Amino acid sequence: MCSTGGPMGENIDLKKLKTKKYRCLDCGNEFKGIGKKVICPSCQSNNLEEI
Ligand SMILES: [Zn+2]
Repeated sequence: MCSTGGPMGENIDLKKLKTKKYRCLDCGNEFKGIGKKVICPSCQSNNLEEI
């Protein structure tokens, strides 16, 4: 991972991974995802809504 910018006290976020909840708009599955490229674990769709 590259770090951009200076010391900002953002290190905390790296320790506890940011998990967001998503709902798949294709199959309705709800799941937690990490990172930018999140896909539905059920149908591999990236047609997601953050919840
Ligand atoms: Zn899905």
